Amino acid sequence: MKKFAVFGNPITHSLSPVIHQMFAKSTGEEILYEKIQAPLEGFEQAVMDFFAQPNAVGCNVTMPFKTRAYEMAGQSSPEAQVAKAVNTLARMHEGGFQGFNTDGVGLVADLKANNIVLEGRRVLLLGAGGAARGVVLPLLNAGIAKLGICNRTQSKAQAIVDEIACERLECVALEAASDWQAEIIINSTAASLSNALPGIDSAALVRCEVAYDMAYAKEPTVFMRYALDNGCDLALDGLGMLVEQAAAAFTIWTGKTPATREVVNKVRAEYT
Ligand code: NDP
Repeated sequence: MKKFAVFGNPITHSLSPVIHQMFAKSTGEEILYEKIQAPLEGFEQAVMDFFAQPNAVGCNVTMPFKTRAYEMAGQSSPEAQVAKAVNTLARMHEGGFQGFNTDGVGLVADLKANNIVLEGRRVLLLGAGGAARGVVLPLLNAGIAKLGICNRTQSKAQAIVDEIACERLECVALEAASDWQAEIIINSTAASLSNALPGIDSAALVRCEVAYDMAYAKEPTVFMRYALDNGCDLALDGLGMLVEQAAAAFTIWTGKTPATREVVNKVRAEYT
């Protein structure tokens, strides 16, 4: 049986095993997928031990190890290189591991599954951490007209813009967000996790069509409520992104493309 795992610390609440078992069932794969809480000082050894098993095919990596997984990977996808973070490792035939960051393709797939047109749109990305870095290339590749990055610490947003050097990408100051005329606003900050707002003025949301929060919970997040209260038409959370990034990893490992929407609904109903 093919073996998979997710590494994190803490890892107790990870939904990855549930999601991947659903994918396995729908695609006719038989898999073992375990949660591994790696010690903070022993992540690399834990990954090596996992891949020492002959049937270990791949693993997911979550907080706080994504940067260390990137450093371990012998080869990395372009998305992982921009993010400097890896959430998916796959065994390479020639030995070692290949690193991927599937957050961005997961986000784009979820937006599309919700019938949101990205081509030609003005998209404002709040935050400049690992999650933001992971989604920049896939958003640009999805044909958006302009991507603004807006972060509490502006220098971090500017650093991403300078690194990628694309004329459709720009840094937006927090106080300039209201005038930027975003049609879609994506919150990749960690603010929702502490029930805080990311710091943009409510005026930024008045003409916004879609507010997307990468965080998710049983109830709409504080950012989703703020967006709807201030005139935004639609607010979505990041559960769909979680499932879609997992689906992209599953495809990398197995070559199979699992159906995702039923999984999103089931995970939302039974596990959040
Ligand atoms: P990082 O720690 O790398 O970055 C955090 C970012 O949030 C920084 O830009 C930071 O700003 C900003 N921030 C934190 N607190 C606040 C606040 N109170 N107000 C304004 N900005 C704030 O985290 P990640 O990028 O890895 O993750 C961010 C979020 O994305 C988390 O909620 C995570 O759960 C979610 N996520 C969801 C995924 C999904 O599949 N749905 C996948 C990956 C991530 P500064 O630079 O100024 O400190």
